[in-house]
Amino acid sequence: MSGEIFRAFCRVMKEEGQVREQESMKGHTTFRIGGPAQYFLSPKDSGELAETLSVCREYGIPWFILGNGSNLLVSDSGYPGAVIQLGKGFSEIRTEGSRIYAGAGALLSAIARKAWEAGLSGLEFAGGIPGSLGGGVVMNAGAYGKELKDVLFYVAVLTPKGSREELTPDQLELGYRTSNILSRGYVVLEAGFSLKEGKPEEIFAQMEELAARRREKQPLEYPSAGSTFKRPAGYFAGKLIQDAGFSGFRVGDAQVSPKHCGFVVNAGNASAAEVSALCAQVAAGVKEKFGVDLEMEVKKLGQFS
Ligand SMILES: Cc1cc2nc3c(=O)[nH]c(=O)nc-3n(C[C@H](O)[C@H](O)[C@H](O)COP(=O)(O)OP(=O)(O)OC[C@H]3O[C@@H](n4cnc5c(N)ncnc54)[C@H](O)[C@@H]3O)c2cc1C
Repeated sequence: MSGEIFRAFCRVMKEEGQVREQESMKGHTTFRIGGPAQYFLSPKDSGELAETLSVCREYGIPWFILGNGSNLLVSDSGYPGAVIQLGKGFSEIRTEGSRIYAGAGALLSAIARKAWEAGLSGLEFAGGIPGSLGGGVVMNAGAYGKELKDVLFYVAVLTPKGSREELTPDQLELGYRTSNILSRGYVVLEAGFSLKEGKPEEIFAQMEELAARRREKQPLEYPSAGSTFKRPAGYFAGKLIQDAGFSGFRVGDAQVSPKHCGFVVNAGNASAAEVSALCAQVAAGVKEKFGVDLEMEVKKLGQFS
């Protein structure tokens, strides 16, 4: 059966490397953690993507759309299904007047850079977020008081029925690090941002300043998935974690960064189980000390005990 499924994927994606089996997820996540994906697929355009999803449906294979893996913790046992990373046809970025359009696989940093080069202001905050456009829209990624929602004007998605729809941001219920994209079963294909004209040197200066702030405050020297927990209303997760005494706390090689307690880092060869256990202990400690519930911002994939 597994040979038949492999061949079915290969009929859709014919180029070398587009269909892989037992692909370690360590190399596909910024945490550098994760067991193998049973299938690792890279459809190169929306036609191949739709056909890939039909094969998954036909054989009852669960699937997961991977962006840049920068908000993801993959189980040590991996994922018994198809991890689908949107391939090269999804990385185009183009400007039209004060609007910028990008494919779901384009990196936010590349889009912000293109906006700067075109003298378009509004995406400076996104220059240091290491995600793809698709993952960014799903998470409504944001930083320094701004979020994608502020500049997004349309998103093209593939619906569960396999058709392309163009939606307004309102239809996606974008909120703090949330949207309805996953619950609706949509795959983001492309999005457009409406920006303002600005001076490239001022846009660049703003991006440089934000990048310097990141380097100073965040443990960028270690693999991580950024802020591990969402910001609870009225608090900062990192401050609560620090005040609960968890700075530098470790479970194996998973560690609460002493530089920024909002980040859990992989300080060596951490396993997903270690990260998960550490997060549970931190959340329980914060709840006990301050009565505040911490909710994971990082998404988990695969089996966790
Ligand atoms: C050092 C560091 C700093 C960070 N700083 C910030 C920050 O300042 N602000 C912030 O908001 N985040 C930050 N993050 C977290 C992360 O970069 C964002 O959440 C980002 O938006 C995730 O994008 P991704 O492409 O990596 O998504 P992934 O981690 O690959 O996936 C995240 C979710 O999106 C889904 N998804 C991805 N692409 C698609 C698609 N095309 N269609 C449908 N679903 C899709 C996945 O299935 C998954 O559920 C940081 C992370 C790191 C490592």
